[in-house]
Amino acid sequence: MNTLTVRENFRVVVDVDEKLTFTKDLAERERLLQRRAEQIVSDIRRHVDGILGRPRVLSDLVCRFCGRDWETENGIATGTPVCCDKAVSEWQALQPESGQFGVGA
Ligand SMILES: [Zn+2]
Repeated sequence: MNTLTVRENFRVVVDVDEKLTFTKDLAERERLLQRRAEQIVSDIRRHVDGILGRPRVLSDLVCRFCGRDWETENGIATGTPVCCDKAVSEWQALQPESGQFGVGA
C-alpha cells in the first residue's frame, strides 16, 4: 500500500448505451441520447441513496466526421476545426461570404 496517497472524490460514472438509438438523423440521435441520459439521472435520484449533490448529464463534443474531440485553431467553438479535412471543408462551406479579414492596413 502506498502510504503517501489516499483515495478521495469517489464517484460513479454511468455511460448511456448509444447502440440502443437507431437513427441516421444525427440531431434526432443526439436528442434521444440526451433524453435517455436525463431519464437515467432521474432514476438514480429516485432510487439511490448516499449521493452528494445532484447527478447530472455530461457529454463530449466531437467531430461528426472523424469522431475526435472538437477542437478549433483559436479555441472558440465557432473557429476553424483542426481534426480532419472533411470538417474543415464543411466549416468553410458554412461560412458567410463576408469578404477578407486581416488583409492590408
Ligand atoms: Zn474531424
